[in-house]
Amino acid sequence: MNNIQSYKNAFLISLIYFIFGVIWIAISDNLVAQIATKADDLTLLQNYKGWFFIVVTTIFLYILTYRFFKSSLLQYSKEIGLKKAHQKEIFKHDSLIRAIVNNSPDSIYAKDIQGRYILFNESSSSIIGMPKEEVIGETDSLIFPDEVASRVKEVDKKILATKLIQTHEEEITTKSGVTKNFLVTKGPLFTEDGEVFGLFGISRDITEQKKHEKFLIDSKKEQYILAHQDRLTKLPNRLHMTEYLDGKFVQKNPFSLILLGLDGFKVINDSYGHKFGDSLIIGAVELLKSVFDKDSFIARIGGDEFAIVLDSDDKEHIEFLMEKLKKNFNIPFVVDETDVYITASLGISICDFSQKSLDELLQEADSAMYNAKKMGKNTYRFYDDTFIQEALIHTQIATNLKKALQNDELELYYQSQNDPINRKVVGVEALLRWKSQEGIISPAVFIPIAEETGLIIEIGNLVLKQGCQAATLWHQKGVLNGKVAINISPKQLSHPTFLQNLDNIIKETKCEPEWIELEVTEGSLMQNPSQAILLLQHIKNRGFSISMDDFGTGYSSLSYIKDLPIDKIKIDQSFIRNIKNDLKNQTIVKSTISLAKGLSVIVLAEGVETEDELEFLKAEKIDFIQGYYYTQPMPLSEMEELLIFNQSS
Ligand code: C2E
Ligand code: CA
Ligand code: CA
Repeated sequence: MNNIQSYKNAFLISLIYFIFGVIWIAISDNLVAQIATKADDLTLLQNYKGWFFIVVTTIFLYILTYRFFKSSLLQYSKEIGLKKAHQKEIFKHDSLIRAIVNNSPDSIYAKDIQGRYILFNESSSSIIGMPKEEVIGETDSLIFPDEVASRVKEVDKKILATKLIQTHEEEITTKSGVTKNFLVTKGPLFTEDGEVFGLFGISRDITEQKKHEKFLIDSKKEQYILAHQDRLTKLPNRLHMTEYLDGKFVQKNPFSLILLGLDGFKVINDSYGHKFGDSLIIGAVELLKSVFDKDSFIARIGGDEFAIVLDSDDKEHIEFLMEKLKKNFNIPFVVDETDVYITASLGISICDFSQKSLDELLQEADSAMYNAKKMGKNTYRFYDDTFIQEALIHTQIATNLKKALQNDELELYYQSQNDPINRKVVGVEALLRWKSQEGIISPAVFIPIAEETGLIIEIGNLVLKQGCQAATLWHQKGVLNGKVAINISPKQLSHPTFLQNLDNIIKETKCEPEWIELEVTEGSLMQNPSQAILLLQHIKNRGFSISMDDFGTGYSSLSYIKDLPIDKIKIDQSFIRNIKNDLKNQTIVKSTISLAKGLSVIVLAEGVETEDELEFLKAEKIDFIQGYYYTQPMPLSEMEELLIFNQSS
């Protein structure tokens, strides 16, 4: 029972006694005086009254003290019971805490205000390498080097000042020289009255976890680099470019995307070897870096393809850079002491956000590059709306070409090949014409589309058939003293059934292979030169002649020309054009003629139009001439007339 309750109870008993006493005195004396008439009676009554008072108050006191003691005793025994239970609880609690503290894998400790240890568990001991007994009562300077001790002290000071619990990571080196990482939680310790009397700390050893994290971060970094970098040039790769452009697209600042393709790189790579190709790529990267400033983003997005992102939409500025690039590409790269000339085709798309997506932007730059390549390479093109028109025409042609095949709209024309000395026709080349409802469409336009769509196989077979029929016809009539040259496109030549088709057509048209010359381009042979040589050998073994068309435009390596089983080299018309005034072309033509002579193959010049061109070629001892100077391509019947006339003249 508490004090206040005791006072209250004592006061209550005294008060009741006092009131009863006062009332008794006041009432009883009066009553006695009224009842007693004699003095003896009065004394007797007074005696009784006295006895009565004592009896009543004694009973009264008995009841009150009995009740009081009973309740106090009850209360007391209750309190004693509680205290015992409480002590039990405290003991249990204590042993619980002790068990946790001493068995915890974490280091648990406490210090007083002066920083002296008042608690130091087993884990703390094993980390520090000192028994608890040595540490209790000592400060951090006993267990840590000075620098660490003062750092820890600063943290402790802060906790005592702010009275807040704090968690942080810490790298700690012990006096024995062990460095470990900890996740540390520290907080103040309060007395019953709320005063800070020290601090507690729990330090979890996270050294392994940290090592693992670092390993993961390092390997993630490595993985990121591997996934985003081109191994050879260390430039960003296609994935990196896409992510970079994604960012640019979000920023909404105008920029330009330039796609660059090295012209004929594959051929160089295949003929000189991959190491040579790699060196050339590195040379090209140096060149790009010298033209575009450091802030430009340059990525290698394919074997021979680069992407450049410029923070500019200024067409004039980009044109200036493109011209500079073109000029630099004119200087040969020196690889393994060999001069290599390589050019680039570039497609530019200026992002003014009319493009709805990144894909659209890439598509634009890609089709601009495709156009630059189509324009004869070594040039650049900006994407513009006319491309859409071109693309539309492209798909229209592709669909109409299928119908043209069924409707017999495709017909072979023939152009003569002549001896420049006596002007005699020595052979004819079959050139395809498409007489569509909209007029005549040039093979230069529809043949590449036929290649892309795969229709070239069907078209190629038709050409072979018509060409062989013509050869059979003219040989049966005895009007042609030479061969019919038929163009074979790269896809057609590499088709697995090519030889079979050829055999079938020869049989079907009753044609002799000796009457036919197949014109192939360098591009047909470059994909897989050794396989191509084998195929050409098969063709030759059957009795066909083979001529190398468009010679000089395909970046072929002279080193394997000698291994090709060819009978004729056709110098491309681009070298013949204006040859009287073009010294470079003169050199190329002269050396091609001497190369052909050296290899004992016939050499023919294509696209001869003028007397000047003819005179130059004649002087250089060209074997044959083909061109408008003698004839334009013409239908079969007209060519037949010409052949008859040719024979009689
Ligand atoms: P090509 O094989 O180099 O054919 C020569 C081209 O030069 C022909 O163009 C011919 O008409 C043209 N030509 C001839 N002499 C002269 C001249 O003096 N001056 C000028 N400016 N041009 C001349 P065509 O007929 O338009 O054919 C273009 C190309 O289309 C051909 O170039 C060939 O690569 C391809 N081609 C044509 N017919 C066929 C074919 O039946 N099959 C395949 N696969 N390709 C064909
Ligand atoms: Ca040709
Ligand atoms: Ca040609």
